[in-house]
Order: sequence, then C-alpha cells, then structure tokens
Amino acid sequence: MSLDPYEMAKTQIRKAVDILNYPDKENVYARLSVPDRVLEVYLPIKMDDGTIKVFVGYRSQHNNALGPYKGGVRYHPNVTKHEVMALSTWMTFKCSLAGIPYGGGKGGITVNPKALSKGELERLSRAYFRAIAPIVSPDKDIPAPDVYTDPQIMAWFFDEYSKIVGYNAWGVVTAKPLELFGSLGRIYSTGYGVAVAAREAAKVAGFDLKGATVAIQGYGNAGYYTVKFLHEWGAKIIAVSDSKGTAINRNGLDPDDLRNWKHNKSKLRSVVDYPGAEERLEGDTMAPLYQEVDILIPAALEGQITKDNADKIHAKVISEAANGPTTPEADEILNEKGVVICPDFQANAGGVIVSYFEWVQNRQGIAWTEDEVKRRLEEKIVSSFHAMREAKEKYKVDWRTAAYIVAIDRVVRAMRLRGWL
Ligand code: NAD
Repeated sequence: MSLDPYEMAKTQIRKAVDILNYPDKENVYARLSVPDRVLEVYLPIKMDDGTIKVFVGYRSQHNNALGPYKGGVRYHPNVTKHEVMALSTWMTFKCSLAGIPYGGGKGGITVNPKALSKGELERLSRAYFRAIAPIVSPDKDIPAPDVYTDPQIMAWFFDEYSKIVGYNAWGVVTAKPLELFGSLGRIYSTGYGVAVAAREAAKVAGFDLKGATVAIQGYGNAGYYTVKFLHEWGAKIIAVSDSKGTAINRNGLDPDDLRNWKHNKSKLRSVVDYPGAEERLEGDTMAPLYQEVDILIPAALEGQITKDNADKIHAKVISEAANGPTTPEADEILNEKGVVICPDFQANAGGVIVSYFEWVQNRQGIAWTEDEVKRRLEEKIVSSFHAMREAKEKYKVDWRTAAYIVAIDRVVRAMRLRGWL
C-alpha cells in the first residue's frame, strides 16, 4: 500500500527540522505539520440529463508566512482531503525555495472530468470557485491549473470571481489564456526551468553541456521542452521514452522533429515508431534510465527510480521534471554514487515561478516580453539551485534534504519575525 501523501510530507518536515535543530523545533514541527485551513465544499451540479449530482471539492491553505497561498486545482477521481493537504504543504516549500513571495495552497475536486460534457465542466468549475470565493483573492490565495485543469478552466474561475467582486480581478488565478492576460513563456516554463537546473548541476558535476548526452523518460509538455532547451545549448538527446516504449539514437535525436512526428496531424504516435531512431524498444519505458549518459531527465511518473534499479543508473546529473520520480531509498543510493540531483520541487518550479510573473504583470497592468520572462525565470532557478548547493555543503546532507532545509528555514525565519513561533 502506498504511503499517505500527508504522512510523507510530515516525514520530510520532521527530517529537515531535526537537522536544522532549532531550539524550539517541536513548536516549528507542530506549526508546519498542519495546514492553516482546509475548506471542504459540496457542489450540486445540474447535469445535462436534468439530474442533480453533488461533487466534493477542497481548498487547503497550508502556510502564508511568505505571502498569499498559491497552488493548483486538480480534477481527478482520486482527489482526497489528505492529498490536497499534502500538496498544499509541498507548495509552501516549493514557493519558498523558488524565492517567490507566496505560501502554499492546493485545491481539488473528486471527479472524472473526462466523463463530463463541456457545459457540465463549466458549471462545476464556476460552482467550485463560487464556493471557495470567500477564502481566495489576489492577496489571499491564487489558484492555478494542476492535473486535468487548463487555461479555459482558469478563465471560468477568473470570470466567476470577477462577477462576485464586481470588477476584473486579473490576479486571482494564473495560467489564464493569453487573451485574458496570461503570461508569455508559460507553456515551456517547467521544461525551461528543468533544463536550467540541469545546466547548473552539470557545472557542479564538472562537465560542459556542449556535447553532453541526455536521456529522458516521458515526452509530454515538461519532457519535450526540457530537452528542446538542452539541445539548443548543445547537448545530444540519445534516448527518449513515452508510455509505449523507447527510441534511441547515439548520434542524437532532434527534439522538434521527434515532437512533430509524434503529434502528426490527426494521429498521436509513439516515439517508439520514430523513423529517426537507430534502435526501438517496444514496451520498454524504462530504458532511458539505464543509458550511459551525462544527464537523465525523469519526466513521466512518480516512483520510477527505486532501490531495485538505482544501481543501474549511470547519469552524473538527474534533473527531475516529474513529481516524485525517486523513492527515498533510491535517493540514498544515488547520493552515495555522487550523482548531482535537482529534486522535483527545485527543478520543476518554472510553472509556479511564471505564475508569479503573471500575477506581477497583472497587478501592474503591464506585459513583459518573452525574453524578460525567460531571463527572470532563469535567475530564479539558478539562485534556488545554488542556495540548495550551499545548504548541502553546510549541513552535509543529500540534495533533496538540502532543498527542504533552505525552503523550511526561510518559512521559519518569516514566522519567527512575525511572532508566530
Ligand atoms: P504529459 O501528460 O504532457 O506527458 C506525460 C508523458 O509521459 C507522455 O509522453 C506519456 O506518454 C509519458 N508516459 C506516461 N507513462 C509513462 C511511462 N511509464 N514511461 C515513460 N513515459 C510515460 O505530462 P507533463 O505535463 O509533461 O508532466 C510530466 C510529469 O511532470 C508529471 O509528473 C507532472 O506532475 C510533472 N510536472 C509537470 C509540470 C508541467 O508544467 N507540465 C509541472 C510540474 C511537474
């Protein structure tokens, strides 16, 4: 049975707080191991056939010592209160490590959105935002997309909230469509951040990106943009997998050609059938992990690198696009091998960082150029990477623990100054 995500979040807090060894560490742990608030809402929706169906939704607000709560809203049949609480806790640390003035929040509705018509989805989205409206605002809590929510749903959220308050509250949600003042750069923000993190890690590992070899598991939004940028900077992409198998070419794969081929016109194809591959491994989605490469990018699912396969990994750098791809036991093995690891909440923070930029632009009534967005995003990822590296050296811990230490310490300092501890 998999561990309750909320228990996992608490274990990570405990570990970092013990290492930081605050004189009042029990108070710190007590304060951080519960969210400030969890709102549970029941949403009666008139379905297309005239029946009323009641859906349950949540918004968890973990901590706002550093700024308004921030985090996505997930539509999925497995959404539970504990999951949302755990995810809001992780958002507190992700925003803190990224150096953006936000706390952590997360929301969700227990629903299979694929079973809803567009009208039902709109009514459900508007009902959810009406129900959580008393606890959100551009200064209190700023939702965004997560699993199975998108810019259209953000547009409905924004519109519903704006009707309630009587003006266009642009800053109440992020990742809105560009027509509604979303930010340029959002589409590739996660991948760009993962690539920048990998580039910084390569410097620590002592190799140059030019000519460095890369393998990637998963070729969706996060994966494609990560290797697109690494390729632009001179790296060679030699292995790519998706849910159907792996394509390998030791001379290098062209990320755009591969993507265009995979998404060709009406048909979505698998990388395993890509004509530009030298070797095709049907059904083998793990092969990229075991290649002799400099950089490995897990960009698919959680729990891929475990104690049973960590020994087979040869990469010098791992930059995690996926959430939770490495188990704690595997982390230990990789750290012993000296792999430089950019943990998920450091490497894949590009999305929330550009969300922050969108909110800043909306509040100022201006729009930055794409170059401006990229430059500022790069700066944030570089600085979080090096803050983590310094903590690793200072506390003699693994990369992930170092990231937690930086994130938690910033929240604790803010809480202390505010008199919360
Ligand atoms: P996506 O749906 O666009 O792509 C997922 C890709 O993984 C697809 O190519 C799919 O074929 C592939 N895949 C699925 N199962 C696989 C398997 N067993 N082996 C190899 N490949 C497999 O998703 P995404 O948005 O790119 O997200 C990927 C990961 O990155 C997830 O863990 C997600 O939580 C994380 N993430 C994404 C973002 C983002 O902005 N997109 C932000 C933070 C974290």
